[in-house]
Amino acid sequence: MQDLIENIIDNATKLGASYVDLRFDTTQSTRIRVRNNEVTTFRTLFEQGAGLRVLVDGAWGFTMSSDLKKLASSVDKAVKLAKQSAAHRTERIEIEQQRRFRSDVEWKTKRPHDSLSIEDKLEFALETNKRPRDLSENIAMVDNTYLEGDISRWFANSEGTFIKHSKPVTAAIIRLVGKLGDRMVVRSKALGGLAGLEALPYDDFLQIAEEETGNVLNLLEAKAAPSGDFQAVLNYDLGYTLAHEAFGHLGEGDAIIQGDSILEGKIGEHVASDKVTIIDDPTMREAIGIPAYGSYPFDDEGIKAVPTTLVDRGELVSYLHSRETARKLGQKVTGNARVEDYKRLPLVRMSNTYIKPSTYSEEELLEDVKDGVYLVDSRGGQTTGQGTFHVGVQMVYLVKHGEKGELRRGTAIAGRTLDTLKKIDAVGKQISFDIGGCGKGDPEQSVRCGSNGPPIRVSSITVGG
Ligand SMILES: [Zn+2]
Repeated sequence: MQDLIENIIDNATKLGASYVDLRFDTTQSTRIRVRNNEVTTFRTLFEQGAGLRVLVDGAWGFTMSSDLKKLASSVDKAVKLAKQSAAHRTERIEIEQQRRFRSDVEWKTKRPHDSLSIEDKLEFALETNKRPRDLSENIAMVDNTYLEGDISRWFANSEGTFIKHSKPVTAAIIRLVGKLGDRMVVRSKALGGLAGLEALPYDDFLQIAEEETGNVLNLLEAKAAPSGDFQAVLNYDLGYTLAHEAFGHLGEGDAIIQGDSILEGKIGEHVASDKVTIIDDPTMREAIGIPAYGSYPFDDEGIKAVPTTLVDRGELVSYLHSRETARKLGQKVTGNARVEDYKRLPLVRMSNTYIKPSTYSEEELLEDVKDGVYLVDSRGGQTTGQGTFHVGVQMVYLVKHGEKGELRRGTAIAGRTLDTLKKIDAVGKQISFDIGGCGKGDPEQSVRCGSNGPPIRVSSITVGG
């Protein structure tokens, strides 16, 4: 296999490519989805394939196939494509130089996926679906998915880098819809990680399903959230949404180059309060030792993963880069080029982006809130390159004189991202780890991201609308 991959790369170089890289994936996965006691998906599949990228005369060409031998026979087409594309480009694409790596990394699992029968997994998925509906007839819909995968990716390029990385992934996701009269409440929650079955203790997830059922039932009875500008504590998930969705995408090198980010030209400037340090760390590990959900040892251009500080005590210090965007902006490669699978071309992506924890316990964050809100969990929303955000909030607690009180229904928060980051006056010490995904590009590519972070406090945020 290694010989065949190296031959393909040599061949592309002989045909005139100045740089070549190849990604080869094999994935064994199982997915079970249950909606209201009905099994809607139950499949196990094995997929494999390779994508070849060539840089010729300053333009990219690409070809892919599920069969490496077929890929070998279409190398000349990728080179031709790149040449034709080069003829229509005004600017040559160049990439930042990198050292070569040889590496074989296997992220091991304590409880491999085959240590449990498929019948047991189906039973777990069915039980997860049944519990909430048994607890109340106001739970109108339960939709849950069990997912496991064993993924291997090979990466090789014409500079002599050759990397093999294998990792397991296990996750469960539940979505609950509660109905009472004409009122409807939706909650969703997930558990899992880049590990075998140890990332998803079934009893823990069943307990989450029960807790979320309680939240849905309480929200059905709750009054509407207040609206206006409030002092607020944002739970880890909303803090993460600010760091990743509202801010992080603005720091991606391609957004800067396309002129679609207000962070353009702002390196060295204060973009947040001095309480805020934002890091993107593909080497991050969860408290229990398994890699955080957006982790990788090398990015999909074969660059060794390292943490990148985007904001250091309020000051913007770096963007995130691929080899191409780093070269174009004259900055250091950060190892943030990622693909969804072998069928796609790398884009600049985040990994585990989080606000660095500080020293405040949750009680201490709440202590100084006289008349404000505690906001829990995000639900969709929009952000713009101009730096505005509008994000759904799933649950709201009123806070009076430092005490978390009455639960109110979900709402939304909105504002200008940098103004809001400048209003962060305290950061919690307890970091939470969650699994998340991020979509980008056209056609959209989805990659795993760690939805991690501590709670934060803002002196004022617009709630409602
Ligand atoms: Zn995102």
